[in-house]
Amino acid sequence: MDDIIIGIECHVSLNTKTKLFCSCALEGSEDPNSRTCDVCVGLPGSKPVLNKKALDYALKLCLALDCEIAPELIFSRKIYFYPDMGKNYQITQYEVPLGVGGHIKLASGKVINLTRVHMEEDPGALIHQGNTVLVDYNRSGTPLCEIVTEPEMSSPEEARDFLKRLLSIIQYLQIFDIDSCIIKADANISIKGFERVEIKNINGFKDIQKALEYEISRQRSLVSEGKGIKHRETRGWDSDKGITIFQRSKELEADYGYIIDTDLVITDITNIIVEETKKHLPELPDDKIIRFVKDFKLKKDDAEVIANDFDLAHLFEKAIDDGVNPIFASEWIRREVSRVLNYSKKDIDESFIKQHLLEVLELINHNKITRQTGQRIMELLVNEDLDVKKYVKDNNLESVSNTDELEKICLEAIKNNKQAVDEYKAGNEKSFNFIVGQVMKLSKGKASPSVVNDLLKKLIK
Ligand SMILES: [Zn+2]
Repeated sequence: MDDIIIGIECHVSLNTKTKLFCSCALEGSEDPNSRTCDVCVGLPGSKPVLNKKALDYALKLCLALDCEIAPELIFSRKIYFYPDMGKNYQITQYEVPLGVGGHIKLASGKVINLTRVHMEEDPGALIHQGNTVLVDYNRSGTPLCEIVTEPEMSSPEEARDFLKRLLSIIQYLQIFDIDSCIIKADANISIKGFERVEIKNINGFKDIQKALEYEISRQRSLVSEGKGIKHRETRGWDSDKGITIFQRSKELEADYGYIIDTDLVITDITNIIVEETKKHLPELPDDKIIRFVKDFKLKKDDAEVIANDFDLAHLFEKAIDDGVNPIFASEWIRREVSRVLNYSKKDIDESFIKQHLLEVLELINHNKITRQTGQRIMELLVNEDLDVKKYVKDNNLESVSNTDELEKICLEAIKNNKQAVDEYKAGNEKSFNFIVGQVMKLSKGKASPSVVNDLLKKLIK
């Protein structure tokens, strides 16, 4: 889609214990306004104090994304009037963001450049009840990092992949908890030659693809009617209906008043702090790929697929720790696990799936079940929380490597397939594979293929 231009602004909430400028807890009671103080409610005279951990997390993110780090940490007030913001401004970074530049590499190898990464506080939440609007400030002051890309993506798939890669990086950095933190995106999208539309508040990478696909087809049909987008606008994403809805003509940045926040002291970000943070960065995808290839002799593209996905990499490393053969684990995770997850539209982070996959890998690797049986169970266990070992036992799925039993089956296959046996004797290898297939069929996929191979060669002589 050469004529499509997409840019993303993404908000990631950080997994700190307390809020960005006060010591109220991020998690705990859900009673409205129970985790608040004069700072996060925005009472006059209250003074914000920066959470050091939040800065540490934000710095890690900037360094992992290869951003250039600002020499000073400067916060500004973004002034607007809205009931979710008690003090009538949001503390954010405007003039000098913490990180500038940086990039994320997509699965295709295409590099998406970043404009900036900055820190800011989340506003409170509005709750609509009939004709009344209530405000809950529990969320107010949650530390966020905003990541802004250059408008360099050209399809909904690229936008989805971008978010997925970003999600993996923040999971590796352990600054984001998938169960309690949020990742929200606004997407700018335009067709070359027309104005752009901003879609607000898209949750997660599946929805970003859907929202953009919808918006592209909407804009294309406007163009084909001779209209196209003539004025910038902001639309909301309705995930239930699968449509974008007009909200307002886009305000320009100039509509906000920004001033430096003099309540917060300007902090020097010295080289010492940067170097110290760098030292404590965990192993990130690029380094993992190199190590997987070097230490485990994985194929480079297998290593890339696994390392770039936090959950797949976690599954792989766990399997290796449990003694599963690395090459087998990588091939199986790359092909079989991905196939089943795609097919059943599941994510590996869904509760029980990772543990089950690991158990299946171990059973296959230790020849307790055959690959064929593994494939069958895998499809079941992404949809059902079952006890894998018990299921295998109850359904009599353990692989047969008992030679007496297998010999009987082999002899039966030889008897039933005389023609194939003669062809194999005449030098046709394909016929041999056919007989192996027949044995597998008779054993209902439970025969261990390597044992069958040896037995058949011995029996047909
Ligand atoms: Zn507070």
